[in-house]
Amino acid sequence: MTTTLRRTAGSLAAAFTLVLSFALVQGFGGGTAVAAPAPTAVRVVYYDASQAQEFKAAVDEGAAAWNKAVRNVQLKPATGGNAAVRVYADNGWPRTYQSGFGRGTVYMGREAVNDGFYPPRIATHELGHILGLPDNRNGRCDYLMSGHSSPVSCKSTTPHSTEAAQVERNAGGGIAALARDSRESAFADCFVF
Ligand SMILES: [Zn+2]
Repeated sequence: MTTTLRRTAGSLAAAFTLVLSFALVQGFGGGTAVAAPAPTAVRVVYYDASQAQEFKAAVDEGAAAWNKAVRNVQLKPATGGNAAVRVYADNGWPRTYQSGFGRGTVYMGREAVNDGFYPPRIATHELGHILGLPDNRNGRCDYLMSGHSSPVSCKSTTPHSTEAAQVERNAGGGIAALARDSRESAFADCFVF
């Protein structure tokens, strides 16, 4: 009995030493002393653009623009019934009814397209509302949320670094984001002159 226990303990110690040496070899032998960054939790927002008619590609482009600019939230096409965002097309103004971070309804209104605004930029702007950004009419093409205040010739779909940073903060959660999550917001004059 005692012998068996001692033998077991001995084997465990040997195994532990083996694991430890392996870890040391891995740690020092690989030449990679840099610690891996802490994994970032990614929030996935599923959107359904199947009703967006001629704007479906523009919506996909808008989603891709956000995915490239931010890390902790990613927009993906919905599969089955998991859409939190629905995108439609109609003859009104582009607008978004947001019901919390990453949830809501977007209308790709044709009025703004008829006025010459670039559909992928409209889509990226409206998705910006879905991700918790307000309108910001500063007239600048390098901001997505400038909406109608930027020139109609503006074709940029890249979020400004401050917009991307705000979306990452919104996606990151926290008390402020939770409060925002419970709010409903309507943005209806994004591209109205
Ligand atoms: Zn807007």
